[in-house]
Amino acid sequence: MTAAIDDVNYSNFLKESKNCTPQLVCNIIEKGATQAVFRERALLLKNLYSCQPYMQTKIQVVSYVIDAVDNIANLAKKTLFSEPSVCNTEICSLCDGRTYNDILIAPNHKIIVKKGFSYLKTVLNFYSPIFRIKCHEPCMGVYTWLRRPQIHIMIELDIRSNLQCVTGHSCLIKEMPTTLQLEHDKNISSKYKLVGIIDFNSGHYIAYCLRTNGIWQIYDDLNSDIRTCSSNARINPHFAIYIRC
Ligand SMILES: [Zn+2]
Repeated sequence: MTAAIDDVNYSNFLKESKNCTPQLVCNIIEKGATQAVFRERALLLKNLYSCQPYMQTKIQVVSYVIDAVDNIANLAKKTLFSEPSVCNTEICSLCDGRTYNDILIAPNHKIIVKKGFSYLKTVLNFYSPIFRIKCHEPCMGVYTWLRRPQIHIMIELDIRSNLQCVTGHSCLIKEMPTTLQLEHDKNISSKYKLVGIIDFNSGHYIAYCLRTNGIWQIYDDLNSDIRTCSSNARINPHFAIYIRC
């Protein structure tokens, strides 16, 4: 949401989106946390998660409870399915090839554990086109893989040293690259800027938002006010969002 407040291009993209999650974000920015906006949010979540009557009289249900416990990557996949991070095209020498979207992208976890989040660009390994990949069976052809990064890049970062680890790999905020250069279309690249990181701590998600003035703001629904922090703060990142500069 802060990215849309700070960046006119991203704000216009959200306004023009047909997806109801960006529409909800625009309504919160425009109208604030009104009853109508909360109702819109409840209807959006009701379509995605289990919804049971909470209070009811003999004749009608007074209120419902929605069990929206989920991880942030699943939530993003469900709510932003039509606004992916990357559009992919495979052009095959023999078959019709295929097109598909990546709503999120994920870095190589092993290298992040070894080298840290500052290596995020390297471990995303984002290049395009990639030539002569063996096609999917039973096709005997080879395909060219085109990857087109879209206006936002959402990165899944719940990185564990091993499967037994209960908590993810932590870092200082300043270790996370504030820009990413993603190469695509034969040496053409797009620059992306970091706008937010979702931190997970003690079963609770907190949003760290990087504003255009360079200040990190903390949005935590267990606190009524918006706090700020320095880039020396330690976080447990599960998700990062970059937008095109
Ligand atoms: Zn093929």
